[in-house]
Amino acid sequence: MKKHKSFQLFGIFGHPLSHTLSPAMHEAAFHKLGIDAHYIVLDLVPAAFKKLMKRSSEISLSGFNITVPYKETVMKYLDCVRPEASTIGAVNTVFKEGKRWVGTNTDMEGFLMALIKDGGFSPSGKKAVVLGAGGAARAAVYGLSREGVREILIADCFPQKARKIANDMRKVFKRVRYQAVSAGALEVKEAVQKADVIINATPIGLKPQDPRVLPESWVPRQGPKFFMDLIYNPAVTPFLKAAKRRGHKTLNGLGMLLYQGARALEHWTGRKAPSGVMRQALLQALKRKGK
Ligand code: NAP
Repeated sequence: MKKHKSFQLFGIFGHPLSHTLSPAMHEAAFHKLGIDAHYIVLDLVPAAFKKLMKRSSEISLSGFNITVPYKETVMKYLDCVRPEASTIGAVNTVFKEGKRWVGTNTDMEGFLMALIKDGGFSPSGKKAVVLGAGGAARAAVYGLSREGVREILIADCFPQKARKIANDMRKVFKRVRYQAVSAGALEVKEAVQKADVIINATPIGLKPQDPRVLPESWVPRQGPKFFMDLIYNPAVTPFLKAAKRRGHKTLNGLGMLLYQGARALEHWTGRKAPSGVMRQALLQALKRKGK
């Protein structure tokens, strides 16, 4: 167990940050573990973020999270980036090793823990479809590949972004078959019929007026298959609703949010994260937001 200083400060850097549930989750964990710490929100415009990170050796936090839009740019300011974060191309958690700032990607671990632990889904040997080719999709594709998935089709409005993921992952995971296509292409429809797991890693479904990320008629009748949306608010997106209606298994992104936070806390404190307490804190914070 790591020895702690009396008071520690943790936080999250991003912009905008009005939506973040991380303080509620981490404060609840610190309280449960008896750690004297506070988790602050630093909503920084790009110029302020750059200024701060240029003097990263002077930052007096014990560890921090990074979110949109700085998950990629933060890497150049760190002393070390873990290989998985480097392949994913994004860092969401930064912790101290001696005086060095080390960047890692707990979104990937959080995604896998949610899928395997909460969803009861084992990716080994399976076929997957990932909708979207942003940072979250990259973490999901890396996680699925690491767990031995057989095939992944990645679809994005910008197919070059999907191709870039496929090319980056091929260098690390030689046995996985990657296909990259345009969102809405017929290949997506075909792959969804054959897939074992379909993941929405786009922001489509966050807003009530959003279009369908997958046409309802493309949701297979045979199954059950596993549908996971990385969105957690709303808890049931139209993507999950359509899958539920056809009898498929579904999971939203709350578990991913919880476990990425739990892993971050473990990196920072060396203690086992109290995930039950953290989940309750997240659910309560979501309830407050809904009011
Ligand atoms: P991002 O960087 O904006 O990437 C989203 C990607 O999806 C973009 O490339 C976007 O293309 C693409 N896209 C948009 N509409 C599409 C469609 N209809 N079909 C296929 N691709 C489409 O966002 P992100 O950071 O990866 O996050 C994606 C989602 O995951 C967000 O909703 C976020 O809240 C969620 N997330 C959840 C967790 C969690 O812990 N649960 C963690 C991270 C992210 P354009 O560039 O053209 O828009």
